[in-house]
Amino acid sequence: MTHESEDDSGIYLTLLCWIGLGLGALDAFVQPLPLGLTGAALGLAYLAGGVPAAGTALCELIVRRRLDIDLLMVVAALAAAAVGAALEGAVLLALFSLSETLENRAMGKARRAVEALMDLRPEFALREGPEGVEEVPVADLQPGDRVILRPGARVPVDGRVVAGAGHLDESTVTGESAPVRKAAGALVHEATVNLDGVLTVEVTRSLATSTVAQMIRLVTEAQAMKSPSERFSDWFGQRYTVAVLLGSVLAYAGFRLAGFAGTEALYRAATLLVAASPCAVVISVPAAILSALSAAARGGVLFKGGAALEGLAEVRTFAFDKTGTLTTGQAAVVGIVALEGDEPAFLALVAGLEAQSEHPIAGALRREVAARGIAPALVGEVQSYPSEGISGQDDKGPIWAGNRRMLARMGADMPDLPPAMRDGAETLVLVGRGAKVLGAVTVADVPRASAAAALVALRASGADILLMTGDRAEVAARIGAQLGLRPDEVHAGLMPADKVRLVDIAAARGKVAFIGDGVNDAGALARADVGVAMGVAGSEVALQAADVALMAEDMTKLAAARTLSRRTARVIRQNLVLAIGAMIGLVIGSAFFNLPLPLAVLGHEGGTVLVVLNGLRLLADPIRAR
Ligand code: ADP
Ligand code: MG
Repeated sequence: MTHESEDDSGIYLTLLCWIGLGLGALDAFVQPLPLGLTGAALGLAYLAGGVPAAGTALCELIVRRRLDIDLLMVVAALAAAAVGAALEGAVLLALFSLSETLENRAMGKARRAVEALMDLRPEFALREGPEGVEEVPVADLQPGDRVILRPGARVPVDGRVVAGAGHLDESTVTGESAPVRKAAGALVHEATVNLDGVLTVEVTRSLATSTVAQMIRLVTEAQAMKSPSERFSDWFGQRYTVAVLLGSVLAYAGFRLAGFAGTEALYRAATLLVAASPCAVVISVPAAILSALSAAARGGVLFKGGAALEGLAEVRTFAFDKTGTLTTGQAAVVGIVALEGDEPAFLALVAGLEAQSEHPIAGALRREVAARGIAPALVGEVQSYPSEGISGQDDKGPIWAGNRRMLARMGADMPDLPPAMRDGAETLVLVGRGAKVLGAVTVADVPRASAAAALVALRASGADILLMTGDRAEVAARIGAQLGLRPDEVHAGLMPADKVRLVDIAAARGKVAFIGDGVNDAGALARADVGVAMGVAGSEVALQAADVALMAEDMTKLAAARTLSRRTARVIRQNLVLAIGAMIGLVIGSAFFNLPLPLAVLGHEGGTVLVVLNGLRLLADPIRAR
């Protein structure tokens, strides 16, 4: 079976094995060699081909108490040698060793595609210090430090641009190849490349919590977590290996009873052992899954494991959060009403309150206030109420901001607002001190450019679409209409627990995927069969709760990932049919039609290599191609 090791010793051993086999074949078919030389050559083939397999098989047996399929090959080769068919045993080991090497190389290719991410971080960065710019190890950078990015430099850690502007190639993180313009205030991510300008970046996260560190953690976790098909093929492999060993012993007894001589019966039993070995069955699923996970990761879609990948193929309902997921999260402030005092003081209060919130609405309010050149007021003891708003303390006492639910929680009444603001289709943020409302702001958000196309593609794949938002019904209806959703597909005014409840209801009709970005989505993300978080744009909590992360803010990648997951399911089915079919054919051939051992071996190893190659087709990047 495929092992983790990827060093070149496997190739050399395979080569030695084939040299031994070649000399043995020379002796048998062309020119008899001295007996000692032939013996040594075949011995070499057995050692080079059999010892590594026997080693791992024994290791598995002792350490993990599992019967490895490699063991079957070694037993069959030894049985062949015992009945005087040493050359055929050598053919078996040589082909086995070759297919093993090919498999390892192929699977290594799939795995390396992801691991290459780890090599992307630079080792040193230029830090602005009191005595000018100095070069320091990236590991020494702390949040708050300022680093200079020259054109062509890789971004050493996640940060925020404080001066300068330029274009960044973010394809390593988001899979998006078009350069992205970044100016003061924009976030930059570790391992992306500064193409032109000179940027000063303030470090926002230490190395350990950076985007790439998270991606690497996600993908490593992913490789440890097995999908249902993988678990099945593992389980099947175990049971089946034992059954094949026992079956071969029984077959030997059967051949003897049928009147065959001892050596002939053993040879046939050994052939049957090879024919019935499920190597191809066991490798067919991981070959496909690993390739697909790598292809997806390079396209900016991170699956936390094969289970999520297989799950996405079966999803019946896609439920979307609105703010920050279907909409850009780059909302604009469209209305301001200050009921008490002057507008700048009111806005300073709002910005101070929202300073620490990761909600997209908070970002919109901060940007607006900053653009007016107003400094945020000092607000402490900030507490957020998911799907409601936020509260805090300034020098005059407790203040709050949020929607109607927040208003009710604070015991305040709806103030006199212009009707367009009170009942309009923009998100309404009320701001107050205790039961007194100080003013209100409306924020308008637009659907992501990619959202409508993604929904169409998902619908075409046979899925239902739902929109679930904590925002008010008027806003949800406007965004829903812009995205072509029916009114019955739109659910508004939801608390986090309501989203979980709606996911449960949708689950009655089949698997549910929930796609969200916020803290308020974490429950639904965890409850859904497949939780999809907005990777870079979303909150940390959402990322933790999800099974899939969309690193690019591009919804069509979700549709592409769905296509990929369905292709993967198809390849797995093809592989299993091929592997099991070949196995059945070979078993029948060796049990009833006197199939020679070398042919059984060829069929067996050929099938194994074929399913691996079929799986590797998925590596061809279908997500980025869109
Ligand atoms: P969605 O489910 O669409 O992502 P949320 O549930 O996160 O929306 O938010 C629902 C509503 O709660 C928002 O429309 C807003 O009115 C209010 N709200 C949430 N967080 C904040 C905040 N930090 N400041 C002001 N209002 C907020
Ligand atoms: Mg949201």
